[in-house]
Amino acid sequence: MTLATRKAIELSEKAAALNARFETLSTGQILDQILHGRVAGRTAVLSSFGAEAAVLLKLVADKEPTTPVVFLETRKHFPETLGYVDDLMDSLGLTTLVRVRPSPGQIAASDPNGDLNATDPDRCCYVRKTLPMIGALKNYDCVLTGRKRFQTDDRKGMDFAEVQQTWLRINPIADWTQDAIDAFLSDHDLARHPLIAQGYASIGCAPCTLPSENRDGRWADQTKTECGIHLHGSDDPSPNSDAQTSATDQSPKP
Ligand code: SF4
Repeated sequence: MTLATRKAIELSEKAAALNARFETLSTGQILDQILHGRVAGRTAVLSSFGAEAAVLLKLVADKEPTTPVVFLETRKHFPETLGYVDDLMDSLGLTTLVRVRPSPGQIAASDPNGDLNATDPDRCCYVRKTLPMIGALKNYDCVLTGRKRFQTDDRKGMDFAEVQQTWLRINPIADWTQDAIDAFLSDHDLARHPLIAQGYASIGCAPCTLPSENRDGRWADQTKTECGIHLHGSDDPSPNSDAQTSATDQSPKP
């Protein structure tokens, strides 16, 4: 058995054990175990700083504000999103932002005209999101995401703990409903993404996002529903491919 196979089996067993453990716990208890109990090892949050990102970030900030927050800066975001990253980090008291960018070499080779999103969006997401993400997250044992089961058909059966590449992906608010999300945002008076007021209920990269009441505004004229950072197991590219070309800028905020 190879080392990689043994590691994959260990991760799979760990995910199963965590799912059994998390089944009866509240979201706060799950986060306590991860951020304070370190049951999943070195942990970061992966955030798109989209329409509902403030929920998970608030929950994490209240538990452990030094938790690294990884943001994939694709170079295709709305300017409003870039401003919201700093505003939300500051308002929640989060101290450690990890901005992850695609490598200039990859962009020059794969998307020299900057229009790959129109001709091959899967490849564009691979270059601008997947590879940089792998380069950054291989430094952690566990990544928290704000994915919810109600969001798409593909997410309906989503577990709290999953294996992705060489780390665990934990979805602590997987079982939250839209009503619960809305109530939490309102109850805590959380800063909202500025584009929500312009009719965007779900916000990704600018060329691939239209105003919409739900996620239908993402890749609106395509069958694509996931952006390349939430692929499963064997669908993912090798962590040892060209992922190391990602540029990261870990910026503890004063
Ligand atoms: S969401 Fe669109 S612009 Fe952003 S990386 Fe994917 S295809 Fe490219």
